[in-house]
Amino acid sequence: MTRSNRPLGFATRAIHHGYDPLAHEGALTPPVHMTSTFAFETAGAGGEMFAGERAGHVYSRISNPTLSLLEERMAVLEGGEAAIAFASGMGAITAVMWTFLSPGDEILVDKTLYGCTFAFFRHGLAKFGVTVTHVDMRDPANLQEAISDRTRIVYFETPANPNMRLVDIAAVSAIARKAGAKTVVDNTYATPLLTRPLELGADIVVHSATKYLGGHGDLVAGLAVGNGADMQAVRLVGLKDMTGAVMAPLTAHLIMRGLKTLELRMERHCASAMAAAELLEAHPSVVSVHYPGLASFSQHELAARQMPGFGGMIAFELVGGMAAGIRFLDALQLARRAVSLGDAETLVQHPASMTHSTYTAEERRAHDISDGLVRLSVGLETPGDILADLEQALRGLQKAAA
Ligand SMILES: *Cc1c(COP(=O)(O)O)cnc(C)c1O
Repeated sequence: MTRSNRPLGFATRAIHHGYDPLAHEGALTPPVHMTSTFAFETAGAGGEMFAGERAGHVYSRISNPTLSLLEERMAVLEGGEAAIAFASGMGAITAVMWTFLSPGDEILVDKTLYGCTFAFFRHGLAKFGVTVTHVDMRDPANLQEAISDRTRIVYFETPANPNMRLVDIAAVSAIARKAGAKTVVDNTYATPLLTRPLELGADIVVHSATKYLGGHGDLVAGLAVGNGADMQAVRLVGLKDMTGAVMAPLTAHLIMRGLKTLELRMERHCASAMAAAELLEAHPSVVSVHYPGLASFSQHELAARQMPGFGGMIAFELVGGMAAGIRFLDALQLARRAVSLGDAETLVQHPASMTHSTYTAEERRAHDISDGLVRLSVGLETPGDILADLEQALRGLQKAAA
């Protein structure tokens, strides 16, 4: 392909990067390499590959050409040197941690985390002699105070699942770097279209590709992105030996299909979520709405600085707390009552009894995940239909209260 040196846009790279049909018999769509193992030209060549002296694929738990293409694309979209594909978001998160942590190390993690990430840190890592300390990273001064030369990793989500809190990535990464700790950011909610943590100073980005990257609710997958040396270490330790959480080639193909429309989908998610957030905020049955795009959002200034768009996720609380939340969920007719997020379908769930039931009630209180919180993943349906569904369910609450 001949072209000028003008940098290509996000969508163009998401569609084309790393693949030339003419090198593959003209196939517009990359072939899916459904193979576990790879034949060596000679025994000597195989030995050299194992010794790391010769490039090439050996076995699909380590690498596979279809996964390599997805990895190259994700690295470019996140602005990193290299990426690794995993069988799940938890596979990506745990593989990174097992690679860089040893007994006696300390990690500082934000107070609000996805439920299974929270459980892994609190109950999984803690069992192996790693000290896990929660810090409210909304204020970088809290991190400055807590960090020490034992701190290996600083970990957070922004926006955080489920309460939408943001972390100033540049400020927090700078503090971590000074102390010699790696910053690892879960970028699942924002996607590389809306936030690129590596460009702001973070060391590693992890994703649940199950969500927006796949985008169609038909797969479970994860990704990690970072510099070449870190990713090589994660591949050979965290992926190959410690978790074996390898992505299937067909899953990589589906994620690449999802990436082709990521920009288009996110634009629609953002626009519909903004409209839904405004509707909720104006409604008398709603106590509070947490959406970074609202002027009333406590970190709206940071959101405007760090995110070119505010995403498709909303958290809110209803008058009447948890009981009202459950009634609201059951009254929805279009939105599906389901966990996960980032799909074409609007999804709604109750974190305290579902995704964040890995926290005890006391832990939820201490970590500001209120029992009345409802989490909404605004989908790609006709925007007016999404809003009408929310409105009729809210109307039902008012009637019940009257
Ligand atoms: C879903 C999710 C995960 C876990 O990913 P899986 O693909 O389900 O393993 C991690 N972090 C966040 C923010 C998530 O929403």
